[in-house]
Amino acid sequence: MEAEIISVGTELLLGQIANTDAQYLGVRLAELGIDLHRVVTVGDNAKRLHSALEAAWGRARIIILTGGLGPTQDDLTKETVAAFLGVDLVMDEESLNDIKGYFERVGRPMPPANAKQALMPTGGEALPNPNGTAPGVWVEKDGHILVVLPGPPFEMKPMFENDVVPRFHARFRSKLPLIKSRVLKLYGIGESHAEQLVSDLVQQSNPTLAPYAKETEIQFRLTAKTETEEEAEKLLDELEAKGRERLGEYVFAVDNETMQEVVGRHLSDRGLTVATAESCTGGLVADWLTDVPGSTKYFRGGVVAYSEAVKEKVLGVRRSLLAQFGTVSSEVAEAMAQGVRILTGADLGVAVTGLAGPDGGTVEKPVGLVYVAVSSTTATKSERYQWRGGGRQVIKRRAAQAALNLVRKEVVGRGIS
Ligand code: ATP
Ligand code: MG
Repeated sequence: MEAEIISVGTELLLGQIANTDAQYLGVRLAELGIDLHRVVTVGDNAKRLHSALEAAWGRARIIILTGGLGPTQDDLTKETVAAFLGVDLVMDEESLNDIKGYFERVGRPMPPANAKQALMPTGGEALPNPNGTAPGVWVEKDGHILVVLPGPPFEMKPMFENDVVPRFHARFRSKLPLIKSRVLKLYGIGESHAEQLVSDLVQQSNPTLAPYAKETEIQFRLTAKTETEEEAEKLLDELEAKGRERLGEYVFAVDNETMQEVVGRHLSDRGLTVATAESCTGGLVADWLTDVPGSTKYFRGGVVAYSEAVKEKVLGVRRSLLAQFGTVSSEVAEAMAQGVRILTGADLGVAVTGLAGPDGGTVEKPVGLVYVAVSSTTATKSERYQWRGGGRQVIKRRAAQAALNLVRKEVVGRGIS
């Protein structure tokens, strides 16, 4: 079941926007068991789009086009598809009503040009677009399926999920394998070390295990190809158990759960609160913590203690400590964590201090050196990290993740209240 994507848009060729539509579809087609063989990008040009269609038709059973469904002159995807298929474009009254309805909902009169978006190639089915004006198109001809989707990702993705995926399932029910994946997220171990510990599992073929190094974590993607959902779940459960046997202590989350969600879940399960004291991350830890709905239950607040004066005056870090060890030190990180805990009355204080660069590094304290600390009424601990490369923003994100992971480790060991 081979597929080809044709991405339409001069902006894509000029590098003004990244082709995230093709990226998204690539992931989803793989999950669906449809082999994507090519992604072709063409500008808003009827002749070149026509020849891209001709070439794709000769190679692929499924052709998915994105972009060029708008109301303006340069939007010519449907016209070109109709000409290529040798059919007329006819007004689809239902789509026209949808478009009128869209403008009513947003409280604007419909510009006459938008009526053109309701034109459909004869024989094509309109795919409704609740998030915009341009309907998509599904056409089947001579054993080929041609799908036309709008360019804006927030219109394209729901249309693909709601109207294209079910049609693929209906068309190819018995031919598509069932593919299920699960992601284990690891922290505190490098990619090559992790891979080494599961090298036999990485080599096996079904289910598969593939490690990916992300900016702030390592991910293991587990994938099973089977006939039924239950079989797939069983294979994934078995593989996950094997992976956890060897790397369990590093696994902090499964699938879409983020570090801040995990930390929030553990804190709220135990009825604990946390406060942040941040230097090089500039408030990022607090920002991430408050990304989670319900964080008000466990997040007390935070101090961005960027200067020595704020570390000293607000957090109570002793001047002698700053002078003796420097701001980027385990001693100062621990004093910051303790200081913010006492200041806010939280159960836990978490602190970050480090060098995000690009300037300010020395041989002893190079850019990428970060200390994170956590303080409770019974103990204060810190960890040292030294990252190489990545740039300022990357170091900030890595430091924020390290700080949250330290909170996680501190809390996980405790019983649930
Ligand atoms: P519109 O009705 O907004 O004109 P359209 O279907 O005609 O939509 P385009 O004109 O090709 O689509 O692109 C509109 C916008 O959609 C682009 O400016 C871009 O923001 C986004 N877009 C288009 N194609 C892609 C793509 N392949 N990947 C990511 N974003 C895209
Ligand atoms: Mg457009």
